[in-house]
Amino acid sequence: MTSLHSAEKNLSHRVADTFAEGGLLSRLANSFHVRDGQVEMAMAVSDQIEKGGALVVEAGTGVGKTYAYLVPSLLCGERILISTATKALQDQLFKRDIPTLVNALGLPIRLALLKGRSNYLCTHRLRQSQTQALNLDRWVRMDMVKIQIWAQQTLTGDLSEVDGLNEQSKAIEWVTSTRDNCLGSICPDFRTCHVVEARRKALSSDVVVINHHLFFADIAVRESGVAEFLPASRVVVFDEAHQLNETGVAFLGKSLSNAQLMDLRRDTLVAGLQMARGMADWNGLCIALEKSARDWRLAMPKQVPGGRLGWEDSAPEGCHPEVWQQVMSDVAVALSNLATALDSVSEIAPDFLRLNERTHQLGQRVAQFFQPAADSSVRWLEINGQVKCVESPLDIAEVIQSKLMTPLEAQNEAQVSKTWIFTSATLGDEPTLKWFTQPVGLADARILRVESPFDYPAQSLLHVPSDFPKPLDPRHSMEVAFLAATGARLLGGRTLILTTSLRAMTVIGEQLIKAFTDDPSIDVLIQGQWPKRRLMERFRQGDREGLPGCVMVASASFWEGFDVPGESLQLLIIDKLPFPAPSDPLVKARSKNLESNGGNAFNDHALPEAIVTLKQGAGRLIRNEADRGGVLIADTRMRSASYGERIFSALPNMRRIDQTDLFWNELSKITRVSTKVS
Ligand code: SF4
Repeated sequence: MTSLHSAEKNLSHRVADTFAEGGLLSRLANSFHVRDGQVEMAMAVSDQIEKGGALVVEAGTGVGKTYAYLVPSLLCGERILISTATKALQDQLFKRDIPTLVNALGLPIRLALLKGRSNYLCTHRLRQSQTQALNLDRWVRMDMVKIQIWAQQTLTGDLSEVDGLNEQSKAIEWVTSTRDNCLGSICPDFRTCHVVEARRKALSSDVVVINHHLFFADIAVRESGVAEFLPASRVVVFDEAHQLNETGVAFLGKSLSNAQLMDLRRDTLVAGLQMARGMADWNGLCIALEKSARDWRLAMPKQVPGGRLGWEDSAPEGCHPEVWQQVMSDVAVALSNLATALDSVSEIAPDFLRLNERTHQLGQRVAQFFQPAADSSVRWLEINGQVKCVESPLDIAEVIQSKLMTPLEAQNEAQVSKTWIFTSATLGDEPTLKWFTQPVGLADARILRVESPFDYPAQSLLHVPSDFPKPLDPRHSMEVAFLAATGARLLGGRTLILTTSLRAMTVIGEQLIKAFTDDPSIDVLIQGQWPKRRLMERFRQGDREGLPGCVMVASASFWEGFDVPGESLQLLIIDKLPFPAPSDPLVKARSKNLESNGGNAFNDHALPEAIVTLKQGAGRLIRNEADRGGVLIADTRMRSASYGERIFSALPNMRRIDQTDLFWNELSKITRVSTKVS
């Protein structure tokens, strides 16, 4: 312990030296310059590492928060777990940021990247699929061949190594495992399993980079080895922490879907016909299971607004209770018959043991959904091609407190306790950041807000038109398209429109296509027309190399994580304030819960949700000191509603312009002086 304490006494000094003018970071890169906010955050992280406990940092765009938490975490010389919301940031940390710093700091650190099991080849399922005459289409068969060739020489089993394999390829589900179908330690391929090897490597590393999905999958079912790594980690960092609550809620609930039943049918048929042919009527049993899953789907409405049906009584809203009882009972009977057959062949191969367990688990899940929902949880039926029963907690506060924080207090007092860092560019709209801390159970955490170093009044404009159709007016999307076309003509493209619904995106996209049909200088891009990565690359490329400029319209998945530094984005249009849908069962349950505890559902939930999403969306525009441009929010409620000023004050301090003509003039002026980014 003496050496630990002496090392920690020096930590703040070493961090300060690393960030100082002429320090290691400025020697590392000529472009590095000291940013007060970054140093402030780095020193707060060092201090927290010395003391232990939880620190929540909202660090505005451009602060350099990644290095601000990495430098002290790496210098402290202890085991670190870092979790991100997206694979993109996970890859960036693992491939670029951490190796760069580790080399510069000269630290002998073993680093591992751990992904979810669906990213790794399952050798057992690959072998099974090779012995089957699977009824696959030509493209899937071609992908299977690629995977088989690569499988012979891969060391990691990470499918991202397979050249030209699309992430959406149907072949992937045949060669990867799920928690449901993995045989675990009874698997004949366990010794050479890539999933097991990736976890083993993570467990013997000093720094492990994971994502929030994996973290919560593990908290929920101790699935991936993170639960073993966690107790030994002295510092745990959650980057992109604003997504923590929603990711946690999605993993900590219970669910039952007709897709799970269909997967069980598929795996049973493959195993039954391959290893126990004639020992049960596998075809008949699987047809009965498939029929019950299809009947369940057919008895439900085809589509529902928002894709979710509330479920407060014995059946989901809009489903006749007797019909619901019948379809679910049929599923239960089909599962029970299958379980009997699997029981009789369990000794033949481990595959049947696991299939039998899966069948029993699904049967239990059906029984649970016949019972009333647990207290402080909410239940709904999800309909989006598939049907899925979901029961979820309202937030993750209880789990974070009971499974993560409480054990810390129980630690030996002589030990320095674990440090938890939660950070993101957007964690709320008021000083206590309670939008983030309350649902995550961090009411006692230390809070730090670090302002962006950008000169927003000089770099950016903000305009909300006053004479404009109201959000529910049927002309609204057409008028947004008109504004976007005006802006794109002015700037030669360089325009992004973020919408709050797919419907608005379609209308705006169609209008833009009409507007630029005869104009070869502008490309209209619409989310969904190509894979997301290709769309993002094309938009970032902009009008360079003689290409047409771009105007792009996109919805939810582009509101965050889409970086366009430089001149390819100079006008960002947001069609409406992104309030959560009040009819959504989870939103409704949270609102009800808040009101019953004396809160106000609109001010304490809907409004902060909208503000955080809006800040994320508006944050796409200015990504570095050289960027210039304007944000236009086409929602008159910003100017007319009593809550409008709260929203304005939560946004970066952009220069506000109230007249539309003046906005176009000023936009034209500031974008003409924009500086190229090196
Ligand atoms: S242990 Fe699971 S993931 Fe590994 S090879 Fe066996 S079935 Fe596949």
